Amino acid sequence: MRNSYAVAGYECFRGVGMKTFVRLWKLMAPHWKKMLGAAMLGFLTVASNMGLMGASALLIARAALRPPVLDLLTLIVGVRFLGISRAVFRYLERYVSHDVAFRVLSQLRVKFYRAIEPLAPARLADYRSGDLLSRIVADVETLENFYVRVLAPTLVALMILAVVFVFLAWFDLKLAFAVLGSFLAAGVGAPLVVRFLSRKTGRRVVEVRATLHANLVDSIQGMGEIAAFGQTRRRQEQVGALDRELMSLQGRMAGIAGLSGALTSLAMNLAMWSVLVLAIPLVSRGTLDWTYLAMLALTALSSFEAVTPLPLAFQYLEESFAAAQRLFEITDAQPAVQDLPGALSGPLPVHLSKSLSEPLSEPRGYNLQVDGLSFRYAQGEPWALRGLDLALPEGGRVAIVGPSGAGKSTLVNLLLRFWDYEHGSIRLGGHELKKYRQEDLRRLFGVVAQHTHLFNATVRENLLLARPESGEDEMIQAARDARIHDFIQSLPQGYDTYVGEGGFKLSGGQRQRLAIARALLKNSPILVLDEPTAGLDPVTEQEVMKAIHRLMEGRTTLVITHRLAGLEIMDGILVLKAGRVMERGRQETLLEQRGLYRKMWDLQHQIFPDDVYRPEGG
Ligand code: ADP
Repeated sequence: MRNSYAVAGYECFRGVGMKTFVRLWKLMAPHWKKMLGAAMLGFLTVASNMGLMGASALLIARAALRPPVLDLLTLIVGVRFLGISRAVFRYLERYVSHDVAFRVLSQLRVKFYRAIEPLAPARLADYRSGDLLSRIVADVETLENFYVRVLAPTLVALMILAVVFVFLAWFDLKLAFAVLGSFLAAGVGAPLVVRFLSRKTGRRVVEVRATLHANLVDSIQGMGEIAAFGQTRRRQEQVGALDRELMSLQGRMAGIAGLSGALTSLAMNLAMWSVLVLAIPLVSRGTLDWTYLAMLALTALSSFEAVTPLPLAFQYLEESFAAAQRLFEITDAQPAVQDLPGALSGPLPVHLSKSLSEPLSEPRGYNLQVDGLSFRYAQGEPWALRGLDLALPEGGRVAIVGPSGAGKSTLVNLLLRFWDYEHGSIRLGGHELKKYRQEDLRRLFGVVAQHTHLFNATVRENLLLARPESGEDEMIQAARDARIHDFIQSLPQGYDTYVGEGGFKLSGGQRQRLAIARALLKNSPILVLDEPTAGLDPVTEQEVMKAIHRLMEGRTTLVITHRLAGLEIMDGILVLKAGRVMERGRQETLLEQRGLYRKMWDLQHQIFPDDVYRPEGG
């Protein structure tokens, strides 16, 4: 364990850390002018303070000689000016640096979201939703530190060091080197100690915080189940344990921050004392005017304002790197499915060949032909589909039935190109699915699935998701056809009623009818119904089926189901088991065959296998 941490830390410092640093730097590149401006303002703030301290010390020393007031006028005005300018520069520096940081962060959020979208659902299955949330919110926020607390202060410290070195060297080189030594001790030595101490803790803070987020989101989403199974206490203890770990880690980080503060103060005071110790003999020898003594010591002391944030910068560097790596991990992930670059190889009908460069306009030729399709989710896993053949002519209706795990939803995943197939072919309008742009392809499919996700928005917004540009009349017509309009009308705010998180204010049947209304509104030529009535009671199921029949009119339809109800209207039925087609044909034929379909039918209709087949009984 110890070793792996050490190796990880080393790698972080040598390779991964450098790469992350360069990538973060590149993100900021378009804003470099503002960033430099913010650093300049930071420099001017510290420089004003140094000037203020130096000028004040000189003023007091000179005033002790009681010269005419006019001789002190420049210093008096200087002190006043620097006192005010310091505050103004500080304000402007905060303003500009945060402005840049927030701009970069908002870009980063958009970039992250854009990267996540194509990963859904194939690549996102490995992440918990709370973890993704933590990445897009907390990690992105952590990166603010990189710009505001790491980059800018380092630049400011370098500029101040240059100025203070030249200034002191002008009086005596020894003074300059003494301050340089303390500056390096505070600005590099202390941060290295901090980095060494906080490396593991910083990473762990990010990890534990992400786990805590993920756990909380999970717990809140599953609150009902947790309470029902009496697991509230256990869950609270888990969250409590994570919370305590986070607190203790943050406490350790605060302790490290305290230590770094102490080290910096030590170096700062050492610098002042060394200047005094080195400058006093110069005064005794007469090479330095005594009135400069306090000025030199105070200028050196105040220059450390630029060093104070550096240990913290190193601490934040660690956190920022961890956060950035977690973000880059997502943005770098290859989507499971990618559009083919360039033109198509074979000749295509005009409207289809357009699809690579622009949206499909005219729907034409929507026959689906699947040949020898085999698919598994990963190497070494069992095949989810094996040698599937299927012909679905335009306007035709085919049902895929089979027990759970037969591969029905897998076929839908492949049709919608959520995953890509390697063995066999799926052709739409005579051309491989892979040759279509994913976006254009999905536009051709209307899907009503078993679980419809409704957004925590109004009924109207949820419906218009299918086609935002549709008019009020079209939307109402779709709702009417889906037999949900009257219900929506009866809601307190009609179409403007909020449906709640995941549509929890609606029943299962209502949610499905909204999904059907959405599909009607989308008006796509091919329809995929993936167990749309699963989990509904028979009365609701019938209601939903009526709406579905309306939806199927004039559309090429693929029905996925394990419920054998209403399948007599299908042109063909494929019976799948363990990814293989066991039987195919129309319902009457399949029932007569007395094979798997008949077995499933009998079971669902409560008829024992030896009973006589009585279709009217079903
Ligand atoms: P059905 O829809 O008929 O119930 P599925 O198509 O969901 O069946 O599943 C077929 C097989 O593929 C099952 O063995 C299942 O475990 C596997 N499977 C489904 N989805 C995934 C996935 N995302 N990753 C890995 N295996 C999967």
